[in-house]
Amino acid sequence: LVSRKQRPEDTVISVKGLEIGNGNPILIAGPCAVESYEQTASVAEAVTKNGVKLLRGGAFKPRTSPYDFQGLGVEGLQILKKVADEYNCAVISEIVHPQDLDMACEYLDIIQIGARNMQNYELLKAAGRLNKPVLLKRGLAATLDEFINSAEYIMSQGNGQIILCERGIRTYERATRNTLDITAVPILKQETHLPVFVDVTHSTGRKDLLLPAAKAAFAIGADGVMAEVHPDPAVALSDAAQQMNIEEFQRFVEELVSSRFLK
Ligand code: PEP
Ligand code: MN
Repeated sequence: LVSRKQRPEDTVISVKGLEIGNGNPILIAGPCAVESYEQTASVAEAVTKNGVKLLRGGAFKPRTSPYDFQGLGVEGLQILKKVADEYNCAVISEIVHPQDLDMACEYLDIIQIGARNMQNYELLKAAGRLNKPVLLKRGLAATLDEFINSAEYIMSQGNGQIILCERGIRTYERATRNTLDITAVPILKQETHLPVFVDVTHSTGRKDLLLPAAKAAFAIGADGVMAEVHPDPAVALSDAAQQMNIEEFQRFVEELVSSRFLK
């Protein structure tokens, strides 16, 4: 169902008046995790001022260590909803439990399925029964064929509103957090009719590479880019090393606009 052979036209997804996949470059920006109303609102204010219409923020955080900040859970989703209403933007957050999906739909405009859950087939099938766009991230060590099959799981249950997101894969290279598989973008665009995004934060894990990675993503045909922004990254409860502060984000957007990758 996700195959370009089955459907030659691009899938375009509408969220709160925003068209995703129609050739208009999109940015998803926001903190790694929702930490408080104040923190989320200050990021929302800054990113919406810079033309961003899609705010991200993790509420259920899949952390490597069980002792690290696990996210605010439902309270985080409630904060996102409040901020979305106040700043007139759409919001996306990761959901990890099939049982939480219906509840999450009350608060979110897009459901994110994270890299660690790309092959959680019960979660994929449950997301496939929603009437809500799903952003599916590529697994940590997933082939493109496996990634496409995971999207197929969602679509097989009736939900065709799927965005694919390349977020880097595990390789032997340690210079970056993961290895950004940039050619995944044109391959996924050729093989499927779905919008394709690139997460420059989790793929590179390096602030100095966010801008070149974003330019590469748009140049090679990505429909959108995801990046993390925090008012004070040094004290962030997750991904402190790689989130941009608000000033850095402003420069990031300005650079993408002046090099004509963003409008
Ligand atoms: C995230 O986007 O918050 C995240 C955890 O990313 P990934 O699932 O790609 O690691
Ligand atoms: Mn993060």
